[in-house]
Amino acid sequence: MRTFLQMIPGGVPAVVGLVLAGLFVSMVPIHPQLWLYPLARQAVALKINYQTKDMLAQETPHFVIRYTESDADMVAMVAAAAEAAYEPVTATLKYAPKGKALILIYSDRQAMKTAFGWAGESNAMGFYWGGVIQILSPKAWLKNSQSVEEFITTGPLAHEYTHLVLDHLARGNYTRWFTEGLAQYVEYKVNNYEWVNADNRLAGKLYSMNELDGDFDGLSNQALAYRQSLAAVRYIAEVHGEAKLSQVLGYLKAGEKVNKAIEKSLGMDYVTYETMVHLWAKGNMKEYSKIAN
Ligand SMILES: [Zn+2]
Repeated sequence: MRTFLQMIPGGVPAVVGLVLAGLFVSMVPIHPQLWLYPLARQAVALKINYQTKDMLAQETPHFVIRYTESDADMVAMVAAAAEAAYEPVTATLKYAPKGKALILIYSDRQAMKTAFGWAGESNAMGFYWGGVIQILSPKAWLKNSQSVEEFITTGPLAHEYTHLVLDHLARGNYTRWFTEGLAQYVEYKVNNYEWVNADNRLAGKLYSMNELDGDFDGLSNQALAYRQSLAAVRYIAEVHGEAKLSQVLGYLKAGEKVNKAIEKSLGMDYVTYETMVHLWAKGNMKEYSKIAN
C-alpha cells in the first residue's frame, strides 16, 4: 500500500481524496478493501499511462501497446500474442476487464529494471503491476526473434494477462501463490508451457501452504514455490474440475480469503487440501530430467 500511495498522481489532493473514499467505503459494511483497491490500482495505472504517453503506440481490440522506436518491428508480434491470450484467459477466469489493458515494451533488461513497480527476478521476461503489463522486448531473449508461434507459446503474455484479469476480478483479494499458480495454469493449459528445472523437483521436501501463504517472494527456492503454486491450482481444476476453480474465483470476488474459498468450494479443510495437493503433485506432475530437458 505504501508503494501505491507513493505512485498516486496528483500528490496530496489525490491522497486526501482516497482517504475520503476510504472513509466512505469503511461505512459500507462488507469488505471495504474490495471498494478501495480498484481506486488505488486505477490511480497507479493513470500515472503510468500519463508518464508513457509520448511513447509510440499501437491499439488492438483489447490492448494498447506502447514501445520505443527500436521495437517497432516487434509490435505486430506482441499484438498477436496479446490477442491470442485474450480469449483463453477470459474464458478460463470467466471474466473480461473493462477497457483496454496497457502493455509496455522495454527494449532491454536494464530499461525494465528501472520500470514502474519492478520487483521481479533479473531473468524475468515480464511482470504485472498496478494494472499494467510490462514486458521485455522479444528481441532481448527470443531465439528466433521473428517466430510469432514461439513468442505466443513461450512468451509472458498469457501469464501476465492472467495476473491482470484476476486482479480486476478479485480486486486485490488473493495471495501471491494463488495468482502465480493461476497464471501458470493458463500457460500450461493453453500453451502447454511449464517451468520445470533441477531446482523444482516435487519428489523432495515441499513448502507447506502456510509457507506459501506467508512471505512467498521471500522463500529461498522460488522455482519450487512457483511449481507448487501451479500444483495447487492444477489439483483443483484437474481433480475436482474447472467448475470448482470457477467457484473459488467466485468466492474471491465476493471477498472470501483464498483458504476459505478453497475450503468452501472443495468441501475439505485447508490441511487436507495441502496433503492432497502434495500427494497429487508427486504422483502426477512432470519432473525435471536431464534427458527430457
Ligand atoms: Zn507471475
